[in-house]
Amino acid sequence: MTANLLDYDLEGLAAYCEKLGEKRFRAVQLFRWIHQKGEQDFDRMSDLAKSLREKLKGHARVQPLVPVSEQASADGTIKWLFDVGGGNAIETVYIPEDDRATLCISSQAGCAVGCRFCSTGHQGFSRNLTTGEIVAQLWYAEHFLRRKLGTTERVISNVVMMGMGEPLQNYSALVPALKTMLDDHGYGLSRRRVTVSTSGMVKLIDRLAHDCPVALAVSLHAPNDDLRDNLVPLNRKHPLDELLDACSRYLAFAPRDFITFEYCMLDGVNDQPEHARELVQLVQHHGGHGIPCKFNLIPFNPFPESGLLRSPQHRVQAFAKILSDAGIVTTVRKTRGDDIAAACGQLAGDVKDRTRVGERIARQRTIMLKPVHDRQGDGST
Ligand code: SAH
Ligand code: SF4
Repeated sequence: MTANLLDYDLEGLAAYCEKLGEKRFRAVQLFRWIHQKGEQDFDRMSDLAKSLREKLKGHARVQPLVPVSEQASADGTIKWLFDVGGGNAIETVYIPEDDRATLCISSQAGCAVGCRFCSTGHQGFSRNLTTGEIVAQLWYAEHFLRRKLGTTERVISNVVMMGMGEPLQNYSALVPALKTMLDDHGYGLSRRRVTVSTSGMVKLIDRLAHDCPVALAVSLHAPNDDLRDNLVPLNRKHPLDELLDACSRYLAFAPRDFITFEYCMLDGVNDQPEHARELVQLVQHHGGHGIPCKFNLIPFNPFPESGLLRSPQHRVQAFAKILSDAGIVTTVRKTRGDDIAAACGQLAGDVKDRTRVGERIARQRTIMLKPVHDRQGDGST
């Protein structure tokens, strides 16, 4: 089996080159060809010694992901579906904005965490992506967009690990992928512009702080353990207190001086004023000194099987106001690409569930969370 060079960060590629009997500095040239120029064909890597090119042809390949489909939203968002074999397909979303262009990347085919409100979670879990498959999403999107826009300049300025999967559950593949994104010889993204979003894998948050401290987003979704146990099953293992301790520790290493908390607004479930007040207490008093943080409220993006509804806009605004009045910077995430099911939590790809997580969540629908108010007469967005 030949090696897929997208599996290596620069360190890994240098070690690989040494194994081929080549000087480590050759790896820098090779890495730049692959990631900065998007080149796959060793013969076209003109400044590489011919002997190295020949060796590579025998031993290595740059294995891209091939899109099965591409959908463009009216708002400029593009979603690609990539076949990753075995009946699994994953999704990647490009979100252009005025001052940045963000790529939302998947880390797993499916997800085993099984959050109630997430389409990926409902699909169950098939397998972790390799480093090469994580990086290939950026490799493809960046070079495809450069060609499309007719530029040699970098197009993607930000990466968020917010596609399908729980990135920290695929830790060993994630870290070299992050390093490739950050490397000046790779994509040269700053640590502040690469965000790992996690549902709260406490021990791995600590490891990330040491191995590759990029920006951290934590999916909170509830102000207390009772509610969070129900929405994010991982909470039963790592309750809020532990999770917030880990956030506090991460701050000493983080590229920004705050943690972003994501909070998906579910009609009648976690969107009441008392939830907002409880959240303020939680984050401002945790550990005696509180946690410097920002809140990103995500209006729930519905999908048919969830049995949940999006909070009406006025309630999201009222919730945001309670947080901002308490001095917490709060934004409401704009929904992008929902006409092509590319918005947060709508990514489902195609997952051959091997865990029965999907089935379990489907069963849970029958023991639905009770809305805390009557939905009748409650204006909707
Ligand atoms: N597994 C990671 C990252 C992927 S999900 C995590 O959970 O953080 C990225 C974000 O989308 C998370 O904050 C997640 O809670 C949110 N999300 C999931 N389903 C959603 C939905 N249906 N509507 C809105 N946001 C959703
Ligand atoms: Fe997995 Fe994140 Fe979806 Fe939860 S929200 S099921 S952790 S992808």
